[in-house]
Amino acid sequence: MGQAKKYVYTYGDGQAEGNTSMKNLLGGKGANLAEMNLIGIPVPPGFTITTEACTKFNQVGKEVLIELLRKQVEGGVALVEKIMGSKFGDSKNPCLLSVRSGARVSMPGMMDTVLNLGLNDEAVEGIARRSGKPRFAWDSYRRFVQMYGDVVMGLKPENKEDEDPFEVIIHKIKKEKGVENDTDLNTEDLKEMVKRFRALILAKTGREFPTDPWDQLWGSVLAVFQSWNNDRAKVYRNLNGIPEEWGTAVNVQAMVYGNLDDNSATGVAFTRDAGTGEDIFNGEFLINAQGEDVVAGIRTPQEISLEGSRRWARLANVSEEVRKAKYPSLEEVMPKPFYELCEAETKLENHYRDMQDLEFTIQDGKLWLLQTRSGKRTGAAMVRMAMEMLSEGMIDERTALLRVDPHRLDELLHPVFVGDALDSHKEITKGLPASPGAATGQIVFFADEAEEWVENGKDVILVRTETSPEDLRGMSVAKGILTARGGMTSHAAVVARGMGKCCVSGAGSIHVDYYARKMVVDGVEYAEGEWISLNGSTGKVYKGKVATEEPKLSGDFGRLMDLADEYAQLKVRTNADTPEEAIIAHDFGAQGIGLCRTEHMFFEGNRIVAVREMILADNLAGRRKALDKLLPMQRSDFEQLLEEMHDMPVTIRLLDPPLHEFVPHTNEAQQQMAEDMGVSVHKIKEKVEELAEFNPMLGHRGCRLGITYHEITEMQTRAIIEAALNVKRKGVHCIPEIMVPLIMTAREFREQADVIRRTAEKVFAEQRDRTKYHVGTMIEVPRAALTADYIAHDAEFFSFGTNDLTQMTFGFSRDDAGKFLPIYIEKGLVDGDPFAHLDQRGVGQLVKMAAEKGRSVKPNLPLGVCGEHGGDPKSIEFVHQAGLDYVSCSPYRVPIARLSAAQAAIKYSLVEELV
Ligand code: ADP
Ligand code: MG
Ligand code: MG
Repeated sequence: MGQAKKYVYTYGDGQAEGNTSMKNLLGGKGANLAEMNLIGIPVPPGFTITTEACTKFNQVGKEVLIELLRKQVEGGVALVEKIMGSKFGDSKNPCLLSVRSGARVSMPGMMDTVLNLGLNDEAVEGIARRSGKPRFAWDSYRRFVQMYGDVVMGLKPENKEDEDPFEVIIHKIKKEKGVENDTDLNTEDLKEMVKRFRALILAKTGREFPTDPWDQLWGSVLAVFQSWNNDRAKVYRNLNGIPEEWGTAVNVQAMVYGNLDDNSATGVAFTRDAGTGEDIFNGEFLINAQGEDVVAGIRTPQEISLEGSRRWARLANVSEEVRKAKYPSLEEVMPKPFYELCEAETKLENHYRDMQDLEFTIQDGKLWLLQTRSGKRTGAAMVRMAMEMLSEGMIDERTALLRVDPHRLDELLHPVFVGDALDSHKEITKGLPASPGAATGQIVFFADEAEEWVENGKDVILVRTETSPEDLRGMSVAKGILTARGGMTSHAAVVARGMGKCCVSGAGSIHVDYYARKMVVDGVEYAEGEWISLNGSTGKVYKGKVATEEPKLSGDFGRLMDLADEYAQLKVRTNADTPEEAIIAHDFGAQGIGLCRTEHMFFEGNRIVAVREMILADNLAGRRKALDKLLPMQRSDFEQLLEEMHDMPVTIRLLDPPLHEFVPHTNEAQQQMAEDMGVSVHKIKEKVEELAEFNPMLGHRGCRLGITYHEITEMQTRAIIEAALNVKRKGVHCIPEIMVPLIMTAREFREQADVIRRTAEKVFAEQRDRTKYHVGTMIEVPRAALTADYIAHDAEFFSFGTNDLTQMTFGFSRDDAGKFLPIYIEKGLVDGDPFAHLDQRGVGQLVKMAAEKGRSVKPNLPLGVCGEHGGDPKSIEFVHQAGLDYVSCSPYRVPIARLSAAQAAIKYSLVEELV
């Protein structure tokens, strides 16, 4: 037999078998616990069971796994015992452990934690005697029974309206004793609590609470592995694209006690402000508390720094006297550990070169760090931190660009409340500004109902006493989140910032009544369904719907975008059909229009009347007459577009949709149309019938219209060329690109290109003036991609219409795929939604092939992508790699695309440097 596989990595006393680069094996938490040891941060000793053990567990089951791990885990425990000078399972001087999960990337609150493991009726007396603090010993014991009962034995609330069953017992005992806080309960009360907890467990599960410490340890380790596959972990993985195969590691560590006495505390901290990005060390703590007390919102947490504490008091309407007496800062009450914490935070941020989210415990005045990780942050904070760390010299330009998740830029482009709109709304209450933004919606009290309401097209604000990981999905669909309890580091606050969602937490004057489905604030009731608005930047809550407007982009954002353009090789254009859209896109830095869909102009005002006249006409003369009415309108639209984009390229696509889309389909509307046009309803109905197709997507559309009706191509070309000549006289030198849609053969393209070029020459002759223009085509039919070299002989550019190309390559229509595509995605029969992310293996091959074939004929043939994929970071990476020239996306996605283009260029240049 060879060496047994290593599943356990130990750390302690400044030594460690792992380090931060081993996240895949040790999980983020385990790798960082090891690393903190190595850089001299005080961390209780412990060991990490690898993610490979989790995978093994799923293959071989628990009995076999325990045998594989037993020796190594015993070795790990022995090391902890040696460093701590105590013994696991001993009744005189017991060593207690924490057991925590830790996946590769942080999944806050996803996996459960058990603290104070190793306690039983004998050990608790041992702890009480040695510490001389029986109350502390029993507080630890009751916490352990509670956590173990919940996490390992599965004792959860039965209905969504119910409170946690253990909390119900705690409330009851507090009521019996007439006290308000957990800390007011004495040793006898806690003994009673343990008794009732254990009785509850026996009654509900039919099993005794295990008293053997090793049974407790194995039970917890396996529960962590099992929790990798619980529902909330799966939801989080789906939301964040985390593969199931990764698995989680288990961290076993010696306990340190924040609940020892009043010289002990526990807390969480951020090295910078996770909401705004400001470089301010901040955090919260509770004296005589343990574990999740701070984030669970059980008591009002206190601020770490004096400055932060005063700011909090202002927001919470707490006077300086009351603040000092009841909620002093750590800086004031425990100055020594506070300064140690400041040193640690600086060391950690400098070491990791990123904002850190820390968890710490102070035991009898001594500081211990229990976790560090890159902190979650809002999109705005992401941008600010990246740019500030760049100017501080902490990170380089490439790192700064890679630090910002392009998707998160969206948040900076979200609406904010209109300046004075707030004045006319009643301020209901105020909480903490947990996650910035503006949100308006209807009150909903349960996460699952939030999902239902949103599915029915409603905007909702999720209102809870506090949130828990079960609420994740509901939080992700809500416009905003409002909680009655919990501080700036509560579950709701941290998760909301991670999602970039507006959140007001700890609005203490709110009482939520889940049964009656209402919230009560200062005696006023607000029922489910009522409209409220949240300002996540001030913490204020308003009655009613408040108007919103476009945000102003900050200086850091502009600098980030400029930097992105320096690195990007792909250009970013926009899909814009109107001058208004062009203006927005221009402001966001679009470098041209990649797609102007001319048909969108056909619906505006009374233009549709002229369009319908053209459709109804029986002969060429009739169609020409109608088209003549459209000509000046299209020309002026184009003039505005060209003027707005000035000397940037503007690609205009000729009419694309089937004519059927322009005629009314209800009786009523047809009647109206008949009246408007002075013809019989019968005639209208006849025409509608005639235009109906079995499969309009594959029917009479695209250039097939221009081929059957040259006059349409002629009118549109004339409008474009005349517009270009008109703006040229105003000094605008643009080169319009006329794009023919849905080409399938080279001859078909030549036919249309001839019409376009003849028409252009005619206009030039009439006006005795010329201008440059290009004629090119969409590549969106598979046959066009396959024969792109033939088409390239005549075409001056290609633009990949990846929406149509995707549906034609897959052979399903985007509009009908809803019935089966979600099932395909769930079963893993396709790699995600091909309309959201370009299918690289299939459709991508066609794109690459057409690009190569096109350039084999014309080496400098301009190539771009229009369609939804042009704004998708993953697809943009592919487009970069395929060597195309630009992507074109909707105006609001332009910044996302610019950053994605830079990131693609950086990632590929990094890869090249390695080779
Ligand atoms: P999460 O991943 O949700 O942050 P953790 O695994 O970090 O959960 O554990 C939750 C909390 O338990 C920690 O924040 C810390 O306060 C407490 N805790 C964990 N290990 C120990 C320990 N060894 N001693 C004291 N407290 C601990
Ligand atoms: Mg943690
Ligand atoms: Mg198309």
